[in-house]
Parts: sequence; structure tokens; C-alpha cells
Amino acid sequence: MVVARDYEEFKKAREKLDGSVGFVPTMGALHDGHISLIKRARRENDFVIVSIFVNPTQFLEGEDLDKYPRKEEADLKICELAGVDIVFMPTINSIYHQDELKILAPKIRGYILEGAKRPGHFDGVLQVVLKLFNITKPTNAYFGKKDAQQLALISSMVKDYFLDINIVPCEIVRDKDGLALSSRNVYLSDEERVRALSLSRALKKGAELLSKGILDSEIIKKEMEEILKKNVDRLDYIAIVNREFKEIDKVEIGNSIILVAAFVGNTRLIDNIWV
Ligand code: AMP
Repeated sequence: MVVARDYEEFKKAREKLDGSVGFVPTMGALHDGHISLIKRARRENDFVIVSIFVNPTQFLEGEDLDKYPRKEEADLKICELAGVDIVFMPTINSIYHQDELKILAPKIRGYILEGAKRPGHFDGVLQVVLKLFNITKPTNAYFGKKDAQQLALISSMVKDYFLDINIVPCEIVRDKDGLALSSRNVYLSDEERVRALSLSRALKKGAELLSKGILDSEIIKKEMEEILKKNVDRLDYIAIVNREFKEIDKVEIGNSIILVAAFVGNTRLIDNIWV
């Protein structure tokens, strides 16, 4: 396994890969969610590239950029065991230049939900993902459904900018008790972790209502809110959108996503189900 720390080093290693390439972009502190993406990439491609880069441009002022967990040694071990060919761990200066041109998230879908709570976040995500795509030149790129809006916007970028890359959406990996795995879960105290379970519980409630034939978004959101408001410290949103990320009044089975975002203590958590 090659570990490349800047563009030049990476380019040398990339040139030697002759075949299909699966790419998994991450911010490190790898867990079973990331590993499931890497394993899928391993199964479906001749070569696998993982990037580990805590991208400063997608963090807003006052967010957790400085304390975001960094676990370089453990991450490299995980990649090695999973059969990764190249790990790209660039420094910030080897990725960003002075006064560079910007790519902007779409005005509507990039500024609702996550984009409304974190304005500019998706500009930074798309900026770094476009760079990483151009550097790694993947055949297939793997993204978790956990970050559903991110996945939708990256798929749009690929379409709008005619990028010749296949985006592969991957299922959300959860702990046994339902909590969606996230690098940020390490911030939770034991007591907060128990309250954090209300996110997946609320989503499960939403799915239960659907199975009873209740499709009205307002009714579903109200029932979910009952569960969440007893447990979280701040509810950012409960939303029901179609797969194009437009809010809908009635769930379209097979084409909808129910999403939640909330703070438990100082930790901001997101979760969703695709229904
Ligand atoms: P991150 O390191 O948080 O930027 O995530 C890197 C990739 O892993 C993104 O495509 C995420 O959607 C995906 N991911 C994170 N958590 C999970 C999870 N619990 N299940 C599946 N994919 C995940």
C-alpha cells in the first residue's frame, strides 16, 4: 500500500494503476461505515484509493475543525487490512492554492436543510470532491447515504459538469442499537449516547407509520418530533424530501428520504432513512 502525502507523490503511484479504480473519500477516524464503502470498492474494482483529508473549507467558523478526531496510524492499518492500494493523505497546502477559483453549491438544494444550518458547507464539500476526483481519476466513487444531501449534490455535480465517474450510493451502517456510525460519535458521553438513539428511533417510527399507510409528511414529522424533543438538546430539522431533495407533503414510497439533524450536548448528529 502506498501512502501519498502530496499531489506529486500521489500522481506517481496513480500512474502505475492500469484498470478500474474505486475511490472512497473520507475525513479519517475510520469506522465500520467507512470500511463498508472500502470493502465494496474492493469488490467492484481492480484498484482502490482512499483519501483521508479533514477539509477545512467545509467547516464553518466555530465548528469542530480543530478537534475533529484524527487517527492516522489506526486509519492506515485499517486501509492496509482492507486491501487499499493507495491512501492519499494530502496536506492542506498541497490541495489549496492562493486566490483560487470557486465552485458553488446550487442555490436551492445547496442551501436548504444541512445547507441552511451550515451555509457554505456544501461549497467546500464540492470544491474538495472535484479536486479529489480530478486527482484520483476514479471509475467508481463510493459515498454513504448517511450524508444524503451531500450524495445528491455530488451526483448533480457529476451530471452538471459531465464528469465521467460513476457515483455509488452505499447503505448506512449502524451500531447494534441503531445509532448511525459517525466519526463524531466519539464526542458523546454515555448519557448523551443514550439520548442520541432517539434519532434512529424517530426514523423507525416514521417507517412504522408508513407501513400503516400514513403518508402525510406533517403527521409523520409531528410523531417523530414527539420522540426527538424529549431527548435532544436542539432539533435542527425533521424533513421529508424526494430523491431530488424537494420537500414533499406526501411520502412517495420508493422515492423519498426522511431526515433528521439535532444536537445532543455539543455534538451535532444527522441521520436518515430512504423509503
Ligand atoms: P466522512 O469521513 O464523515 O467525510 O465520511 C466519508 C464517507 O463515509 C461519506 O461518503 C459518508 O457518507 C460515509 N459514511 C459515514 N458514516 C457512514 C455510515 N454510518 N454508513 C455508511 N457510510 C458512512
